[in-house]
Amino acid sequence: MVRVSRVVPGSICDEMGIVAGTELLTVNGRQLADFLDWEFLTADDELVIEAKLPTGEEIVYEVERPEGEALGAELEPPTVRRCANKCEFCFIEGLPQGLRKPLYVRDDDYRLSFAYGNFATLSNVKERDIARILEYRLSPLYVSVHATPWEARKILLNNPRVPNILEQLTRLAEGGIQFHSQMVVVPGLNDAEILEQSLADLWNLGDAVLSVALVPVGVTQFSHLYNGRPMDAENAGRILEAVERWEERALAERGDRWVFGSDELYLLSERALPSAEHYGDFSQIENGVGAVASLRERVRDGLADLPRLDGKRIGVVTGVSMAPLMPELLDAIAEKTGARFTLIPMENSLFGPTTTTAGLLVGADIRRALSDRHDLDLALIPAETINDDGLFLDEERFIALREAMPMPVYPSYDFIDVLALEGEPLLTGRHAA
Ligand code: SF4
Repeated sequence: MVRVSRVVPGSICDEMGIVAGTELLTVNGRQLADFLDWEFLTADDELVIEAKLPTGEEIVYEVERPEGEALGAELEPPTVRRCANKCEFCFIEGLPQGLRKPLYVRDDDYRLSFAYGNFATLSNVKERDIARILEYRLSPLYVSVHATPWEARKILLNNPRVPNILEQLTRLAEGGIQFHSQMVVVPGLNDAEILEQSLADLWNLGDAVLSVALVPVGVTQFSHLYNGRPMDAENAGRILEAVERWEERALAERGDRWVFGSDELYLLSERALPSAEHYGDFSQIENGVGAVASLRERVRDGLADLPRLDGKRIGVVTGVSMAPLMPELLDAIAEKTGARFTLIPMENSLFGPTTTTAGLLVGADIRRALSDRHDLDLALIPAETINDDGLFLDEERFIALREAMPMPVYPSYDFIDVLALEGEPLLTGRHAA
């Protein structure tokens, strides 16, 4: 059964009399377990839908749907499948106590992998789930592989019952499913022969593996499970050498790079980051692969849209790892606009100094950075620090913070998104609603 959360006014479901709270029971005789069933089983044009209204009345609807017309029922979110692993490097295990409960949810859900691109390990996938993936052709999936040798993977996921990922992927690949995959690389566990073996195994799955991202292990001062070494420059450099070897082969044999190192590997090893062309369609940008190249490209392309901001003093708050990359971008914007930029790199007060990502800065860090800066006309903060509810990770509300600061403050993804707003309203904060 799935429950309706909203019905689009004027839609087919609206005309049928379905309302929020209605339980959708079956479609063409098949029971509904979740949004996937609803989405795929209602793909036909002739439908018999059994439903139970909030009044308790059960109704069977016979529906002939005009081609391409949506039914118009939005469903309550599914119960997320929890992760059965206990990876030492798990970011959630590295969260401090006392944050909002949803932040501690370790999801591992192939349905969300298909629907939203969340990475899943497939550790908790049962036979019936495999059958569904194949029947509904849930492709591409985003899979956290970490290692293909079974024993190594059990150690990495800290789960002796983890299934053999190579068998799972092979079976799904034979059914036409494709994957974007990732490996979190942990020094001493999956960085040398295991890395090489894993890349070879994934390569042997042919076109089924669309891309592989190599991401360095990242731990915070609260990562109580992690006993290993942190990733260092030398190790990061060796991983990038493996990337180069495999991408050379991939370019020659299949015409795309196939394997990518995350931006952090380049920053750690102090190697130059590739340009935007390197990343093709940026299929793993959410994984920190090509994010810097994308930012550089957006700034370069957006310069022409910027107004003059002569003499205006603009503060830019960022994390420690991104700070060295900012001057080249801000210099270009300053030249085009006449604005004067002040870069404000901040250490992370919640996660500790080893967490240097700009997007993980918390409200307290932004407050510390800006509350005494009466010299600034405007401040930009990383937009990734705020969730859809307007909250920082430490539960500070952006609106409250903004009102307490001595200058207009804007969340920004790429500077252009804010600075291209007209100059004067921008500087008086009238765009800040
Ligand atoms: S798979 Fe590992 S890293 Fe991902 S949520 Fe589970 S324990 Fe954490």
